[in-house]
Amino acid sequence: MHRDRRTRIIATLGPASNTFEMIKKLSDAGADVFRLNMSHGTHSEAAELYNTVREVEKSTGRPIGILADLQGPKLRIGTFKDDAVIIENGQTFILDCDKSPGSKDRVELPHPEIYQAVEPKTELLLNDGKVRLHIDKVEENRITTTVVVGGELSARKGVNVPSAILPMAALTVKDKKDLNFALDLGVDWVALSFVQRAEDVQEARDIICGRASVMAKIEKPSAVHDIDEIIAVSDGVMVARGDMGVEMPMELVPAKQKKIIRHARRAGIPSVVATQMMESMITQPVPTRAEVSDVANAVFDGADAIMLSAESAAGDFPEEAVASMSRVAITIEAEPSYKRMLGKDNATPEATTADAISAAAKQVSATIEAKAIVTYTGSGSTAIRASRERPETPLLVLTPNIGTARRLALVWGLNCVYSQDAVNFQDMIDKACNICHEYGYASINDRIVIMAGMPFGTPGKTNVLRISRVQDYHINI
Ligand code: PEP
Repeated sequence: MHRDRRTRIIATLGPASNTFEMIKKLSDAGADVFRLNMSHGTHSEAAELYNTVREVEKSTGRPIGILADLQGPKLRIGTFKDDAVIIENGQTFILDCDKSPGSKDRVELPHPEIYQAVEPKTELLLNDGKVRLHIDKVEENRITTTVVVGGELSARKGVNVPSAILPMAALTVKDKKDLNFALDLGVDWVALSFVQRAEDVQEARDIICGRASVMAKIEKPSAVHDIDEIIAVSDGVMVARGDMGVEMPMELVPAKQKKIIRHARRAGIPSVVATQMMESMITQPVPTRAEVSDVANAVFDGADAIMLSAESAAGDFPEEAVASMSRVAITIEAEPSYKRMLGKDNATPEATTADAISAAAKQVSATIEAKAIVTYTGSGSTAIRASRERPETPLLVLTPNIGTARRLALVWGLNCVYSQDAVNFQDMIDKACNICHEYGYASINDRIVIMAGMPFGTPGKTNVLRISRVQDYHINI
């Protein structure tokens, strides 16, 4: 179960990866978390994928995280009389509330909220930003635009309004149904699309009520602007570069990626970099040099996890895509410059015992060349603080809570083992030494560092740092 790689890999599941055999191959190749994209497929297909991942988990013995990604309030135009129309640069194009099929001069925009939120002289984007419209006039049920960049439009293409905060609910009717379904299944993480502000996350949190961790997808300019407020109410953030690259000039995305990761690390929540990381591997068995460089940069940026979308869900080479990503991460993590970066960007510990002990564990383990830092955790919060310190020493997490082990699967460097809580101080040492030996972290006479909380089993009580040497008698427990 021991993974040397610290950066975690999320693989999206889909038609190319919906069998036990393929999901097992992806897990063996390095996928730590699987993503169910609720924008596609039926509930019964998602349930099938969920159950198959749990079967794979049983066969590998390593806790696997499952993330349900909600579609969110994605705006779409209506339909056209013909299959598709071409709209030309400089022509007038109207968006209105008329349900009748559109033409090359107009189309339905069935979202009343937009008419109140947009303003003349701003932009409205269609079809993933390929078609750009300049807004000339806004009326109650009608927006008149001039086409800046024309192109093909067909039914239900996406609409982006980068400049406006739309007065829309964070969760659509479909999202609420998908969310309840995903929570009933038992997913570990829920990702929220098109978060505009912290209240959107809070609204979802109030429904989720701790049944899963909440990841805010950062793709709207307003979300980038309010990143600290959003981080404060989220368990994780995703740099959702697909829509972000439509909502703002693409050339701004790399800097926003660095900013989001930096702020998430400072706050001690995991960050994920997503979209087009290995895009060419949808049809090719090897990545391009640019893709390798992109994955390497996300690792250098200190992201907790990197994500595959269509590459693993619908591509011809899902296993190769995971394996390539894993190789790049392992190679970068061995670079001295990566190790320097880990030290440089470290956040200052907060005045809590968990942070004090996490910082001390990193320093002590480096000084005595301990083979592992072992963290006992119930809720996972101490383990996340230990990961935030980015120690060079491997991190092993012991938890009696399988849900915690699965949630932590996307956090940098955490190798989780589902294990009974310690019953007393000696048992804490015995278990830690035994598991370190069993999983190949430490040999006889090697030292390990243990973090735990006393009294045992009390959440939020991390207050012990213990150095122990693995002995013969630990192995026979
Ligand atoms: C993205 O936009 O980058 C993203 C991850 O979201 P989705 O795949 O749902 O478009």
